Amino acid sequence: ALKVVARCRPMSRKEEAAGYERVLELDVKLGQVSIRNPRAAPGELPKTFTFDAVYDASSKQADLYDETVRPLIDSVLQGFNGTIFAYGQTGTGKTYTMQGAWAEPEKRGIIPMSFEHIFTHISRSQNQQYLVRASYLEIYQEEIRDLLAKDQSKKLELKENPETGVYIKDLSSFVTKNVKEIEHVMNLGSQTRSVGSTNMNEHSSRSHAIFLITIECSETGPDGEEHIRVGKLNLVDLAGSERQSKMGAHGERPKEASKINLSLSALGNVISALVDGKSTHIPYRDSKLTRLLQDSLGGNAKTIMVATLGPASHSYDESLSTLRFANRAKNIKNKPRVNEDPKDTLLREFQEEIVRLKAQLEKRGMLGKKRRRSSRRKKAVDGESATENEGEDDNEDGLEKNMENYLKEQKERLEEEKAAIQDDHSLVSEEKQKLLQEKEKMIEDLRKEQEATELLATKYKAMESKLLIGGRTIVDHTNEQQKMLELKRQEIAEQKRREREMQQEMLLRDEETMELRETYTSLQQEVEIKTKKLKKLYAKLQAVKAEIQDQHDEYIRVRQDLEEAQNEQTRELKLKYLIIENFIPPEEKNKIMNRLYFDGEEDQWKFQPLVPTGGSQMKKRPTSAVGYKRPISQYARVAMAMGSHPRYR
Ligand code: ADP
Ligand code: MG
Repeated sequence: ALKVVARCRPMSRKEEAAGYERVLELDVKLGQVSIRNPRAAPGELPKTFTFDAVYDASSKQADLYDETVRPLIDSVLQGFNGTIFAYGQTGTGKTYTMQGAWAEPEKRGIIPMSFEHIFTHISRSQNQQYLVRASYLEIYQEEIRDLLAKDQSKKLELKENPETGVYIKDLSSFVTKNVKEIEHVMNLGSQTRSVGSTNMNEHSSRSHAIFLITIECSETGPDGEEHIRVGKLNLVDLAGSERQSKMGAHGERPKEASKINLSLSALGNVISALVDGKSTHIPYRDSKLTRLLQDSLGGNAKTIMVATLGPASHSYDESLSTLRFANRAKNIKNKPRVNEDPKDTLLREFQEEIVRLKAQLEKRGMLGKKRRRSSRRKKAVDGESATENEGEDDNEDGLEKNMENYLKEQKERLEEEKAAIQDDHSLVSEEKQKLLQEKEKMIEDLRKEQEATELLATKYKAMESKLLIGGRTIVDHTNEQQKMLELKRQEIAEQKRREREMQQEMLLRDEETMELRETYTSLQQEVEIKTKKLKKLYAKLQAVKAEIQDQHDEYIRVRQDLEEAQNEQTRELKLKYLIIENFIPPEEKNKIMNRLYFDGEEDQWKFQPLVPTGGSQMKKRPTSAVGYKRPISQYARVAMAMGSHPRYR
């Protein structure tokens, strides 16, 4: 099941100064959060939610990591897909939890801590080869932006491959060899993110940031064959969960405003549909975020949601809605699976390329073995006794030296020959000139070859260095004592987790078996106990009733919002339609209509080019391919072309 934890940040100085009351109580031992309505009628009980773990204001970043995150990252290292979401109102600590205060070791969040974890794991591994790469992207107003790309104006597209699932076309990724390199990638993306926005706070509250780490590991299995496992880790800092203020408040047109939290509301709908049990259709396709993270919700990934909360009374409504959201997510069931030997791994590609480069270098006589042979050959020609212990090493260090020696020898030989020609008085000067030119050319060729070989060798070394092998390419520098400490910390975290699970279990069982355990000595006692029980159940009933009322109110609110949005859009549509009817000649309009088609892959309406470019475009036209069985009215066509896609209304 999806793992859900809640985390409450400390009161901010501002909140304290303003004298807000605290409405959240956390029971860390039990994993429970209680929230009290500041406007509660007397006698109204606080609402209580139970999660896999809760973290109060005094919790450390390392607590959350060791207890909750570490096991997930370990799974990713074994080839599972993993996702961590931070969900909550703006200003409750999503970014603090995911990223943290980067410069202070104590305050580092999940993302930088996972870097350390991953590379330490690799350095301690044995007989395994790893390739680690990272990408960083953002979804803003339903557009995907590659935070690592040079060209920031380019919008990326989601594509679907029947074998590998949904992916982002042309998303850049960087192979990283160590913590420093991957940190650099993270910083690069974060910079791009903040540069593109005038108000970072507002921007981040309206966009989703996803840091993606792909870890490929190859190992020889018991069958003697080499197997590659691939683990993908999505680290997601979601947009603020607060309901966007009424449209237009930020100056957007209704269309833009309705897109802002589309991905977030789609996420809610997907979760609802997943836990409903009766839904046959899960609306993953309704937003970029849900499409991209389909695996993480009801799919084959292991997923953690961190619900972040503010403790003060002014955020009561949002905190309650966050708690409800998280509570629903708890019931999602995933079916985690190791990705073994998938097609198209970069690791395999690298391995093959390395073999190819190595073969090329060998052909050029640049690697130890071949070099020895050629040196032996040369010596045999010279008629001198060969010394066998020369150029024995076959590793990269030897490579460079071998190459240098070889080229030097060759060059010297050519120069000698050149000098010999010059000194040879038996040759006619014309002939001499020709021979000299030939030699010059040979020297030039040699130089070119040298350059090409150097290039090849550099490439070979660069590629080989990217494949990480524990103990060889990266060494673990932690000492034994620290390792022991780490282990102890993990054990404690594990124990805490088990204790909490047991407590939760006991609480549940208590309620169930209360009846069975009770024996009554007298009628009087039976009445007393049953009255007490009745009272308890009555309170529970009231709580459920209040919950239903709350949900109903929420539903009405959302519905009103949607109706308003719809009205807005209909009005805009009518205006556009009016313009079309009155200002565009009918034949022009028909021409435009006929050129319209729906591109299912890009999920939007498009125009066909005026001059058809072969048959390929024509094939896309039939509307049945789009999924609309009934013919589309002209009105609807315009509606969709205007961007008010029926699904978004
Ligand atoms: P969000 O990303 O959800 O909008 P931030 O992560 O930016 O929120 O947090 C808002 C502020 O609260 C920041 O100044 C952050 O340092 C602080 N903060 C959040 N969570 C904690 C925490 N657990 N402990 C201490 N400070 C926190
Ligand atoms: Mg943030």
